[in-house]
Amino acid sequence: MRVLIIGAGIAGPVAALSLEAAGFTDIVIAERSTELRGLGVGVNLLPHAVRELTELGIVDRIAALGVEPQTLSYFNRHGQQIWSEPRGRAAGYAWPQLSVHRGRLQLELNDIVRERLGDGVLRLGHKLIEVQGNTAIFELPGGQREEITADVILAADGIHSVARSLHYPHEGEPLWSGLTLWRGTAVIEPFLDGSTMVMVGDAEQKFVAYPLGGVDEHGKQRINFIAERRIAGSADADWNRQVDREPIARFFEGWSYDWLDVPAIIRDAEELLEYPMVDRDALPQWSFGNLTLLGDAAHAMYPNGSNGGSQATLDARTLAYYLATEPSVEAALSAYEVVRRPACTKLLEMTRQTGPERVMQLARERAPEGFAHVHDVISQEELEAIAADYKLAAGFHPDSLNARSSLNARVAGDRE
Ligand SMILES: Cc1cc2nc3c(=O)[nH]c(=O)nc-3n(C[C@H](O)[C@H](O)[C@H](O)COP(=O)(O)OP(=O)(O)OC[C@H]3O[C@@H](n4cnc5c(N)ncnc54)[C@H](O)[C@@H]3O)c2cc1C
Repeated sequence: MRVLIIGAGIAGPVAALSLEAAGFTDIVIAERSTELRGLGVGVNLLPHAVRELTELGIVDRIAALGVEPQTLSYFNRHGQQIWSEPRGRAAGYAWPQLSVHRGRLQLELNDIVRERLGDGVLRLGHKLIEVQGNTAIFELPGGQREEITADVILAADGIHSVARSLHYPHEGEPLWSGLTLWRGTAVIEPFLDGSTMVMVGDAEQKFVAYPLGGVDEHGKQRINFIAERRIAGSADADWNRQVDREPIARFFEGWSYDWLDVPAIIRDAEELLEYPMVDRDALPQWSFGNLTLLGDAAHAMYPNGSNGGSQATLDARTLAYYLATEPSVEAALSAYEVVRRPACTKLLEMTRQTGPERVMQLARERAPEGFAHVHDVISQEELEAIAADYKLAAGFHPDSLNARSSLNARVAGDRE
């Protein structure tokens, strides 16, 4: 059986590796870019995704790229702590959370794909423009066309998915929340214990930071950060737009605490990329004949909750599982959609309500000038409920994740 995957971002290579592990041998990945350049800044892989990388036998390679955050803490604009929780193994998961550079993750995944499936598997410079039945049509850099026919087409072509637009031609551009994100990396002295992810502020203005690597010989650590604010701007979702640091640092003047100096970090950023906080509406259908959507193509969502890369990983693994275990492509795509679409729809709704970050908004509404003690404004029970609800919806509550059966599967010999 020939499987054609569109897109060599995160979902695409994880799908290829999952299919290979399940015994499929005829796999092609078609990617628009003529070279993989490892773009982006930080991304988090939550325990439910790290479990899948572990079961694929590649977790050591990915873990070597980043760090394992131990704690997630939320603060108000005054630098006062609202909520703090252990993460990954410290929170009782059998698998860690990993913070990695998105570009390095993409390159490593595609390197492993080449090692396991051979160099020929990756067709760069193939931009999907049309799908007719079992045949995908690509435009090559010189303008010529190439057709690839397959038994199943997995469209992992991201938030601007062409495959999706062919089935939803009137959907238009991604939907903008009105918030703008400035994403960057900086090399600074470690903050707090050097392995904590922090979120500071509220729904109007926020700063997120987490370590991306260990402490170097100068006592410094590379961190990823996302500064976020509501401004008049544009909804043009280009991942690579560079911007000046100074105007953004000025938005955060006064956000200097004895444990973190937000404007200084922005001024010292190695790079600063502007991106609108966009998502897309949930879809009523992901699969059309022998084609299905996965990753951001199926369910682009806001980054709060750090679930984009993790849900893409789960989609890919689930698809490979059903393609290996169901009697036909149609049955496999249907089983995949039954499991994954409602889960992602629920998660998308929750990210629109700011997900677990709701505690920051509650603190802002109830105590805009700060508090003497957080429990004066939000009870412990309320704080715990918000954190637990999101983990359940996202499929990564420790109990359910640790108990869930594996997605490792093996295809019957005559179907590979
Ligand atoms: C350049 C870039 C930088 C990013 N930076 C970050 C970041 O810093 N932090 C973060 O959390 N998330 C980032 N993301 C998004 C993140 O990778 C996704 O949210 C998530 O991991 C889901 O992955 P995906 O594979 O579904 O989509 P993506 O990672 O977006 O991958 C989609 C792939 O499909 C390819 N593609 C698109 N259109 C076509 C076409 N017509 N034909 C063939 N191939 C096509 C793209 O070139 C890309 O390689 C970035 C995405 C991109 C593309």
